[in-house]
Amino acid sequence: MSIDQPTERETMEFDVVIVGGGPSGLATACKLAQLAQQAGTELNICVLEKGSEIGAHIVSGAILEPDSLASLFPDWQTLGAPLSNPVLSEEVLYLHNQNRAIRIPGLFIPGGLHNKGNYIISLANLCRWLAEQAEALGVNILAGFAASSLIYDANNAVCGVLTGDMGVNSDGQPGNNYTPGYQLRAPYTVLAEGCRGHLGKEVISKFALDKDKTPQHYGLGLKEIWEVDPALHKPGHIMHTMGWPLDESGTTGGGFLYHMDKNQVSVGLIVDLNYETPWLSPYEEFQRMKLHPRISATLKGGKRISYGARALVKGGLQSLPDLTFPGGLLVGDNAGFLNFLKLKGTHTAISSGILAADTLFALLGCETRAPRPLAYQRAFERSALYSELFKIRNCGPAIHKLGMLAGSAFTWLDQTVFAGRLPFTLRDRVPDHAALRQADHCPKIDYPKPDNKLSFDRLSSVFLSGTFHEENQPCHLQLRDEDTPIQFNLPQYDEPAQRYCPAAVYEIVRDENQPARLQINAQNCVHCKTCDIKDPTQNIRWVTPEGGGGPNYPNM
Ligand SMILES: Cc1cc2nc3c(=O)[nH]c(=O)nc-3n(C[C@H](O)[C@H](O)[C@H](O)COP(=O)(O)OP(=O)(O)OC[C@H]3O[C@@H](n4cnc5c(N)ncnc54)[C@H](O)[C@@H]3O)c2cc1C
Ligand code: SF4
Repeated sequence: MSIDQPTERETMEFDVVIVGGGPSGLATACKLAQLAQQAGTELNICVLEKGSEIGAHIVSGAILEPDSLASLFPDWQTLGAPLSNPVLSEEVLYLHNQNRAIRIPGLFIPGGLHNKGNYIISLANLCRWLAEQAEALGVNILAGFAASSLIYDANNAVCGVLTGDMGVNSDGQPGNNYTPGYQLRAPYTVLAEGCRGHLGKEVISKFALDKDKTPQHYGLGLKEIWEVDPALHKPGHIMHTMGWPLDESGTTGGGFLYHMDKNQVSVGLIVDLNYETPWLSPYEEFQRMKLHPRISATLKGGKRISYGARALVKGGLQSLPDLTFPGGLLVGDNAGFLNFLKLKGTHTAISSGILAADTLFALLGCETRAPRPLAYQRAFERSALYSELFKIRNCGPAIHKLGMLAGSAFTWLDQTVFAGRLPFTLRDRVPDHAALRQADHCPKIDYPKPDNKLSFDRLSSVFLSGTFHEENQPCHLQLRDEDTPIQFNLPQYDEPAQRYCPAAVYEIVRDENQPARLQINAQNCVHCKTCDIKDPTQNIRWVTPEGGGGPNYPNM
């Protein structure tokens, strides 16, 4: 039996198909449904989510700027949105070394970075609430369904997606439980897959949406949730850190520790993926960071209850691709709207979803519909979202070029003295995957062994992420060339995938008397997308595994 015959697939027709049940996809859906309701019309909208439920694949800090949520649901408080923990106090620390830290005076922190009026939330729970609002407005939420590929019409415009087949064996042949995926067709497809969406990547390349743009830049965010001693818990308090341990290898990024409610604390580290040394392990850096007395003071005696990792987009305005393509558009992190300086992408994801919905609703009401929703691009360029990203456009490249300390000093001047209006735009033209230096040109990094109190190994972390993939399915981490890892990456970079993957998926195995080989433990994958980004030869392609597979995060 062939598994690629479109005739075998059931087709469903919608007005709009939205891929991704994160804040951007759900905001698009809610706004479209609200507009339809106000106009007294009906729209058939569906949101596809590859996680087993909405929120299952969401990893975020998360501090929420509530303005865009309030413009979508002005009565979010009465509707019971899960925003119960306002930021009450904050501090930024420069971790000087593994023991010492200096508190950075508020005067030296650009105004936009203060968090008064913001909330400490679980983004997964906010998404679950948004999905409830969407369903109440008549949106179809299809969780456990991964959009595996795009469907194109005769004019080469996107006209929907295929959901992944279920029950395909690891050899690519249909198994006993084989169920073909569905064709979901619509005049407009919204790609809201988050950072490095694999369909987003396809349209960006196919329609050259990133022509003349600076390469996109990324960070890898690692996060844990801890239940801490109530005596050490300060609800509403947030801490950001810079410096140690990343500065020891000249890597940029920073840490966070947020006191959530119910004695829980969210602790994490963002590692910029333009790092140079192939010996760096973002996971071990994070484990090391927790040993710093300013972090361990809160965690000691506590219990780690959850772990997750996810890449985030950091390129900003210079790297933003054209936002539309024939038959659809990009929203949220799939386009790259995250505000790099604030490390906040949720409010921008929601804002982009609202702009997209306004455009699509107007187009769906036209008798002759333009296949490419270009008005979305124009609406963005006139929006407050554009102004926000324009103002901070130089901060990311400055930190990449000057390093954390000098880059932060530039950022302070740029934001505080010049309000982001300096008459030039900096660009970092080196893609993250091209930044690695050869392994023998960089000193090895000796990471301490986990103490199993504050620091842990990767496999016990993956266990806490609740990750599950049906084992008998084709590997969703595809190598374009099977030989590259051993013949090129291993001698040049000691195969950095062994270290950058936060879920121990890639292993170099050296069996006795056998040549080294790369083993891919795909069932551990937490869908962070780092391998798709950082592999120096761009040889690894992340594609969707069976829907419902992957992590099962509770309240990340
Ligand atoms: C560690 C970390 C800390 C952060 N801290 C903050 C913070 O404090 N404040 C803040 O505002 N922002 C923060 N961010 C950024 C913020 O989380 C993102 O900007 C935001 O989640 C982007 O929303 P999105 O809808 O574009 O994508 P996502 O939230 O990534 O959602 C995309 C959804 O689409 C689904 N999906 C992807 N591909 C497919 C497919 N092919 N088929 C079906 N479903 C698919 C995914 O499973 C996911 O549920 C942080 C991010 C990280 C990683
Ligand atoms: S295999 Fe790739 S996407 Fe999966 S966890 Fe590892 S680096 Fe992330």
